[in-house]
Amino acid sequence: MIVTGGAGFIGGHYVEQCIKESNPTLVIDKLTYAADPVRLEKQCQKGEVESLQVDINDSSHVRDAFQTWKPNVVVHFAAESHVDRSIADATEFANTNFLGTLSMLRVSLEYFDSLSKHQQSDFRFVQISTDEVYGSAGEDVAFNEMDLLQPGNPYSASKAGADHLVQSFENTYGLPTLITRCCNNYGTHQHCEKLIPLMISAAVSNQPLPIYGEGQQVREWIHVKDHVSAINCIIEHSMSSGEAGQTFNIGTGQRPNNLEVVQRICSAVDRYCNRHDGTSAKNITFVEDRLGHDFRYALDSSSLASLGWKPEVALEDGIEKTVQWYCEQLLAET
Ligand code: NAD
Repeated sequence: MIVTGGAGFIGGHYVEQCIKESNPTLVIDKLTYAADPVRLEKQCQKGEVESLQVDINDSSHVRDAFQTWKPNVVVHFAAESHVDRSIADATEFANTNFLGTLSMLRVSLEYFDSLSKHQQSDFRFVQISTDEVYGSAGEDVAFNEMDLLQPGNPYSASKAGADHLVQSFENTYGLPTLITRCCNNYGTHQHCEKLIPLMISAAVSNQPLPIYGEGQQVREWIHVKDHVSAINCIIEHSMSSGEAGQTFNIGTGQRPNNLEVVQRICSAVDRYCNRHDGTSAKNITFVEDRLGHDFRYALDSSSLASLGWKPEVALEDGIEKTVQWYCEQLLAET
């Protein structure tokens, strides 16, 4: 298996699962600011994991890696993933998320064409996409996989463009692909720029907790381990049924607004730090809203449910444990 972006937050959890399943894995990762090379190094020491530090746009090195590694599955996580950064400058988002995916598709197709018919039937290119490609959902709407893509920011536009490329390679060249569109992930090892780790670290150190607008934006949340199990369920179903070319939403139906998420984090931090409930929440401050901020994301994940998958981590338990993990890391650093 080849996992791009395996040094990142979700990719790293996916690699952890590959280790548990003794699934030999090559991680292709450029190791940007968002990567966790220390975690990857530890994974390389404990399992059948190898890593290649390379940009996915470097098709010559990626092609060589395909020839040596001979993957049957390519799980493509590598991306620039932070919306705020895409608003400041979308260049790297176009380079990695769109052109990088094109480059991965080209190399995958070249490799696929060199396989025997039997090997071809076992090959899948899995595009890890996001619920953000659908844009903002109306009050009672939950997007399904047939809905139009109406991305509302440069990050989601670059991901939507990549999804279209993936579908075009399936349709034009017969490359067997799958697309997964997951909601917001949380859990351990997420980069500290993202909402949940950012708020935990601010709460622990009694700093202001900045929330965009009035914090009423709604997001659907999934624990990263449930995301990993959903991806594997989709791949297994595709392999056993012989079907490819589908898109699956991955969601949980747990849709609090941002203020509710931050209040929950504050209470968990107060419990961990033995403070009175409400201490951390006093530091919540509302700041100017993000440009073009999508108001609501919501997924209809019934296609995935029909494969027998369901999430195992309830948001309240997941947040409590995530807060504990970050607090331990933060206290260990001081
Ligand atoms: P992340 O930012 O934590 O990790 C991205 C990884 O990709 C990093 O290790 C980085 O070094 C690597 N990378 C970036 N550019 C690269 C390049 N040009 N070549 C090779 N490697 C490169 O991201 P994440 O949160 O783990 O997200 C992983 C994937 O899941 C992304 O495709 C993202 O769009 C998608 N996704 C994320 C979420 C979420 O809530 N985080 C939700 C749905 C979908």
